[in-house]
Amino acid sequence: MINGDVSFWWNQLGRPSVRSALPGSTHADVCIVGAGYTGLWTAYYLKRAAPQLRIVVLEQRFAGFGASGRNGGWLTNSITGGREQYVGANGAQTDKRGVAARFQAAMNDTVDEVIRVAAREGIDADIIKGGEFTVARNAAQLSRLQAAARAEQQWDETDVELLSAAQATSRINVAGTLGAMWHPHCARIQPAKLASGLARVVEALGVEIFENTRVSEILPNRAVTPNGTVEAEYIVRATEGFTAGLTGLERTWLPMNSSLIATEPLGAEVWENIGWNKRETLGDMAHAYMYAQRTADDRIAIGGRGVPYRFGSRTDADGRTPERTAELLGDILHRFFPATIGASIEHVWSGVLGVPRDWAATVGLDPVTGLAWAGGYVGTGVATTNLAGRTLTDLILGVESALTDLPWVNHRVRGWEPEPLRWLAVTALYQAYTRADHAEATRRSTTSPLARVADVVSGRSH
Ligand SMILES: Cc1cc2nc3c(=O)[nH]c(=O)nc-3n(C[C@H](O)[C@H](O)[C@H](O)COP(=O)(O)OP(=O)(O)OC[C@H]3O[C@@H](n4cnc5c(N)ncnc54)[C@H](O)[C@@H]3O)c2cc1C
Repeated sequence: MINGDVSFWWNQLGRPSVRSALPGSTHADVCIVGAGYTGLWTAYYLKRAAPQLRIVVLEQRFAGFGASGRNGGWLTNSITGGREQYVGANGAQTDKRGVAARFQAAMNDTVDEVIRVAAREGIDADIIKGGEFTVARNAAQLSRLQAAARAEQQWDETDVELLSAAQATSRINVAGTLGAMWHPHCARIQPAKLASGLARVVEALGVEIFENTRVSEILPNRAVTPNGTVEAEYIVRATEGFTAGLTGLERTWLPMNSSLIATEPLGAEVWENIGWNKRETLGDMAHAYMYAQRTADDRIAIGGRGVPYRFGSRTDADGRTPERTAELLGDILHRFFPATIGASIEHVWSGVLGVPRDWAATVGLDPVTGLAWAGGYVGTGVATTNLAGRTLTDLILGVESALTDLPWVNHRVRGWEPEPLRWLAVTALYQAYTRADHAEATRRSTTSPLARVADVVSGRSH
């Protein structure tokens, strides 16, 4: 195991000074459990809309400790689990595509909303909106990429461009590129700067954040901690990938691990070879996909699946990562960018994200119990958490709005299977994806049937 400083982003920024823990039992109007983006955006919009509310945030470690301080920094418009699942949702017979199109438009706007608020509130999170760039590096990936681009081009809201190999490599010189697609609705960010800035801003608004305060159980109108209980009209569960640690919620969202490495700052001659001048976020069409960004200080941060899931829904300790995972990510880096061979890998870390059984994120409120939640974003929560925060604000204030009408609101799905089935299923799923990627890289020109079967079993769509 290596590193363990939570993430490169926190290492770069410096860990914030610790806020005090909950001093004892208390009452609030709204209690938010978890100080990641979901909890902080909810606190932000709610306090601005209703300054008279007493809002208390309870965080087991420190604000931004979870995925929000560790992610790949793609502020993107992706709808978790894909837009197609919502075509025809809400029984809208006359407007089958309308619901999904509205959701997509809301996600596009959410990317801009985060950028707007960061500018307005003086949060410098190294944001550059260079769009999202996806490469195909073998024939099977290229046919999936072309099909995906054609499908996206059927929608007014997506603005996808298909790029030839020459067009693609003139923008980002990824070795072996056969083609790429790009869309403008994505920005690169420094994740921990956004989390820490948001925490500062909500505190200045009068929200109370208590750190080192772990909630053991969420009950109607009560969040229970070893330090005391917070009673509130509404309790918001914003614990995402850590949700399995709460009593009674062990099978709600599967905690999936994802890992990243970051190189040292790369020199001008390397960047001359690679290009990447618009700071697009970079991904690929592999089943076990990679994701990357060029950081503000000219490193490459590149991520992917390491050990995807730990038996019994255990999560990592402070981002510590198996050496094998760092090696695998280093191999991807060198295959994509041979010019980086010889550059040192200075950081490696991991984080945990929440995967619902149908891979579809949700936000909701039960008005009878006052229990609210948002999460299950899989790998696309950086922007979605903002939409969740604004939606929870409307739900809690009883405002019917264009946001509360979106099809992910109050969506429910069954939980995951008990162990050992859960571990066996996820491990087999990722072995199938890895084998499918290998087959496609070495001999197949079409999508491997292994990946198709794995998609059906997992309920995952591309
Ligand atoms: C390695 C990695 C890379 C990713 N890359 C991207 C990306 O590039 N783009 C993208 O869109 N998405 C990405 N994601 C997903 C995205 O980061 C998350 O969806 C998003 O940050 C979720 O925010 P959150 O506030 O819901 O959860 P978190 O940020 O995980 O926050 C949950 C908080 O709750 C606290 N908590 C948990 N349990 C308790 C408890 N019992 N009591 C008190 N506090 C508790 C935790 O300590 C944590 O601070 C990535 C995720 C990971 C792990």
